This record gives sequence, structure tokens and C-alpha cells, in this order.
Amino acid sequence: MEMRPACERCGVDLPAASRDAMVCSFECTFCRGCTEQRLGGVCPNCGGELVRRPTRTG
Ligand SMILES: [Zn+2]
Ligand SMILES: [Zn+2]
Repeated sequence: MEMRPACERCGVDLPAASRDAMVCSFECTFCRGCTEQRLGGVCPNCGGELVRRPTRTG
């Protein structure tokens, strides 16, 4: 799986171990702040639900 390193909305760094990274089923990636405060939990690209991205370490 490709791990996108930054929020597509605000550009904040979202490293693989970040617990603030949110993704949709097409792997559009956003930070938790944008997801909750600006996007309402919905991906603006494809309309999918944004869920917390699993970290590599669990
Ligand atoms: Zn963001
Ligand atoms: Zn999407």
C-alpha cells in the first residue's frame, strides 16, 4: 500500500506512524483536523468515508 506522507488539504506531515492520518477507500489522505472540522468525515475527492489510517506498527 502506498503511504501518502501529507494531508491533501492542508499539507501537514502525516508520517506512517501518525495516528492523525485519515484515509478513504481510494487512499486519499487527510489529517484528522481537516477530516473532522472541514470535511465532516467525507472525502472531498470521491465522497467516501474517511477512517483512521492504520499505523505500520499497529
Ligand atoms: Zn489537513
Ligand atoms: Zn477519496
